[in-house]
Amino acid sequence: SKDISGNKYTLYNSKMNELSNEKIIIENDIRRGIEEREFELYYQPKINIKNEGIMGLEALIRWNHPLRGSVSPDEFIPIAEETGLIDSLGKWILNEAIYQQEKWINMGYKFGAISINLSPKQFKNKDIKTEILLLLSKSKLESKYIEFEITETAAIESEEYTLDLMTELTELGIKFAIDDFGTGYSSLSYLINLPFDTIKIDKSFIDNISKGSRGIEIVKGIIAMANSLKMNVIAEGVETKEQLDILRELECDMVQGYYYNPPIPADKIEKIYGIKK
Ligand code: C2E
Ligand code: CA
Ligand code: CA
Ligand code: CA
Repeated sequence: SKDISGNKYTLYNSKMNELSNEKIIIENDIRRGIEEREFELYYQPKINIKNEGIMGLEALIRWNHPLRGSVSPDEFIPIAEETGLIDSLGKWILNEAIYQQEKWINMGYKFGAISINLSPKQFKNKDIKTEILLLLSKSKLESKYIEFEITETAAIESEEYTLDLMTELTELGIKFAIDDFGTGYSSLSYLINLPFDTIKIDKSFIDNISKGSRGIEIVKGIIAMANSLKMNVIAEGVETKEQLDILRELECDMVQGYYYNPPIPADKIEKIYGIKK
């Protein structure tokens, strides 16, 4: 009846309001968090599977919230993207990662390149190129020490724009990794058209590579393809010795995962991996 539908409408509406109120609260909270310096970058090593040496570090953002404790990026990155706050947050991430990397290089540490995650919205913002170029020139950091990880969804909406941006940055010596490889629907065409250097095999595939499984064949195929395309290949989310051994057999170049280290603060990276060469 009329009453019921009217009721429903009101319910639906108040639910919607609740949701958008919550979003506004979180949005303001992120803004406050940036001002109050509550964000921090953690770093997770990328390990050479042959000699177990460190090949690079992925920067992963953490929010040390005064009331909520440590908040997962899966909770606030999507909201930052929706509200446009990803631009200022992303700027902070770029600055911080480049600053940290410059510091490490000046201190004589050899941790390899720093990989910075660029989310789709961030990548599509036309200011991103200027931002990156400005930071590079200010820091005098060699571009080979920087890599960007982007997911396929970042490239999806405008492949032409993505190609232009990637080509220009690649010519400067910046490297690109395709993140979460295999989870999107057009990964393969990106390998043909876009200048990626590295394939990151998504954790969901690594979770399923026990001996004799179908999963192992898929991963084998991805690694073979990366090798014949002369691309680097890294497995993410490696948690067990068994997974590591299988990946070594399959001749995967690099691994990343809790088996070696979770993401950790910069000073811990220095303590564990900081033998100066
Ligand atoms: P991602 O880029 O795919 O990052 C990998 C995630 O897997 C990270 O979660 C990492 O901590 C986690 N991980 C690494 N090794 C293992 C493992 O062995 N087992 C398990 N279970 N997990 C592992 P995290 O740090 O919570 O980040 C989640 C996502 O949030 C990232 O996925 C990325 O999409 C986004 N994100 C994180 N930091 C940033 C950032 O600085 N900028 C942007 N744009 N996005 C970020
Ligand atoms: Ca990543
Ligand atoms: Ca990933
Ligand atoms: Ca992911």
